[in-house]
Amino acid sequence: MSTLLTREEYENIARNLALPNEAFIDGAFRPAISGKTFRTTNPATGAVLTEIAACAAEDVDLAVASARTAFDDGRWSRLRPGERKEVLLRLCELMARDATELAVMESLDSGKTIFDCTTIDVPETIHCLRWHAELIDKIYDQVAPASDNHIAMVVREPVGVVGLVLPWNFPLLMLAWKIGPALAAGCSVVLKPAAETSLTALRVAQLAHEAGVPAGVLNVVPGSGSAVGEPLGRHPDVDMVSFTGSTVTGRRFLHYSADSNLKEVVLEMGGKNPCVVMDDAEELDVVAAHVVNGAFWNMGENCSAASRLIVHKDIKDALLEKVMTLAAEWKVGDPLDPTVRVGALVSKAHFDKVCTYLAATKQGEILMGGRAIDGVFVEPTIVDVGSNDSLLAREEIFGPVLSVITVSNFDEAIAVANDTEYGLAASLFTANTKRAIRGARAIRAGTVTVNSFGEGDIATPFGGYKQSGFGGRDNSIHAHDQYTQLKTIWLDLNVASDAGKN
Ligand code: NAP
Ligand code: MG
Repeated sequence: MSTLLTREEYENIARNLALPNEAFIDGAFRPAISGKTFRTTNPATGAVLTEIAACAAEDVDLAVASARTAFDDGRWSRLRPGERKEVLLRLCELMARDATELAVMESLDSGKTIFDCTTIDVPETIHCLRWHAELIDKIYDQVAPASDNHIAMVVREPVGVVGLVLPWNFPLLMLAWKIGPALAAGCSVVLKPAAETSLTALRVAQLAHEAGVPAGVLNVVPGSGSAVGEPLGRHPDVDMVSFTGSTVTGRRFLHYSADSNLKEVVLEMGGKNPCVVMDDAEELDVVAAHVVNGAFWNMGENCSAASRLIVHKDIKDALLEKVMTLAAEWKVGDPLDPTVRVGALVSKAHFDKVCTYLAATKQGEILMGGRAIDGVFVEPTIVDVGSNDSLLAREEIFGPVLSVITVSNFDEAIAVANDTEYGLAASLFTANTKRAIRGARAIRAGTVTVNSFGEGDIATPFGGYKQSGFGGRDNSIHAHDQYTQLKTIWLDLNVASDAGKN
C-alpha cells in the first residue's frame, strides 16, 4: 500500500501543482481552435482550478487526422509488440514517479478522497497499464486446420483509430482500462475525458509523450459531450469507439455509428447491482464490511456499486446493525484529509440529482443518514425501501445510498436480483456451495462475486449483461478483442507446374 501523507502535506502539494489545461494533439499541447475555454472546479470547495481548452468538432478533426497519419505510417502500429511494451512500461515508471502528484490532481478535480486516489486509483491505473504492456508480446496468432496444401493463418490487427470517451467517476482508472489495451495493440487514440475531470488525462498524455509514445498516437481532446463526444462518435475516420458512462449516453453512440461509418462500438454503462445475503452467510462482520464498501466506496459513484441489499429476513436485523456500525465510521468531509472515506460528489449538478433521490427516501424507512452536508457532501444513507419496485431500488443513484429489500428464500432473492434492466455486477453471500454456484449462474450480470464484493481483477473481463454493456469487455486478455480485428490469410501452396509430380 502506498504511504499516505498528512492533510497539510497534501494541501501544500495541491497549492504548487502545475495543472495542464490545453488539448494534447499531435504530440503537443495546444488551445482549442476557437480559443474558447471552460472552468474546471474543485467540487469540495467550489474553487476554480483552471480554465481548460473547450474543444469542438474542428479540434476532433485535427486529432483524428493526426491519429490517422500516425496509424497509417506505422510509427506505433507497426512496431514490434515488445517495442511498444518497453515504451508503455516507461510510461508506468513515470506515473509511479509522479504518483502523489497524480493522486492529488485526481482528488482535487473530482472530489474523490486522497485515501482512495493514493491507495487504489493511481496504483491500479499503473498496474493496469503495466499488465497490458506485459501481455502484448505474449499473445499468439493462430493457424487454422487446413489441408497440407494450404496454410490458413488467423491474425489479429489493430483496429485503427479509436475514440475513447470516459466518465468522471474513475478518470485515471477508466483511462487505463481503455488506453492500456488500445495502445498495446497498436491503435492510435483520440480520447475525450469527462469535462468535469480532464486534468489527469492531459497529464498522462504528456507523460506518455515523455515516455516515447510518438506524436499523434495518444491525443486528448477536452470538451463537452455534445461538442467533442458526438463529433468523435460520428467521425467517418474513427474505426471504433469505446465508451464508459451512462446507459442514456451509451445508446447514442449506436446511433452515431449507424448514421456514420458503422464504426465498432463498445459500451460500458450503468448498474443497479444486487448484493444478496442469505441466512446461512458466515462471518457477518466480514459480510457487513463488504456491504459497506460495496455501497459507499467512492461515494457510491461507482457503476458496480452494490446499491441493492437483498437480505434474508432471518438475518436482516443482525446484519444491518453491523453494517450501520461500520458505515458510521466512514468519515465524510475534506477529500484531502487522508482519514476521510467519503469525499465530495463530483459537482453541484450531480449533488442536486442525488438530492432528488434523498427526497425520495421518505417513501421508505430511513435507517441511517439521509442528509446532505455543505452543498456537495452526502452522508452514507441506508433506506429500507420495502419493495424492489421502489424508485430507489430501480434507478442508478450514483451516490452513497443503499436500498434494503427483504426476502424469505433463495429463489425469491435471485428473482429480485434479476429484476432490473441492468446486469453489470452482483455479489452473493452464502455458505452453501451448491447455492453459491447455482446463484452465480442464475444472476444475469457480467461479474458475480461470491462471499465478497469486488470486480475480480485485471485478469478477469469486466462488462455488463442487459443494458449495462454492449459489444465487448474491459480488462483481461479479452479487452484486446475490442482493439483488434481478425484477418484470415489463406496461403495456397499448390503449384500448377508441379501437377502430376511428387
Ligand atoms: P455520461 O453522462 O454518460 O458521460 C460519459 C461521457 O460521455 C462523458 O465524457 C460525457 O461528456 C460524454 N457525453 C455526454 N453526452 C454525450 C453525447 N450526447 N454524445 C457523446 N458523448 C457524450 O456518464 P457520467 O455521468 O460521466 O458517468 C457516470 C456513468 O458511467 C454511470 O452511469 C456509471 O454507471 C457509468 N460507468 C460505467 C462503468 C462500467 O465499466 N460499466 C464504469 C464507470 C462508470 P461530458 O460529461 O464531458 O459532457
Ligand atoms: Mg473538476
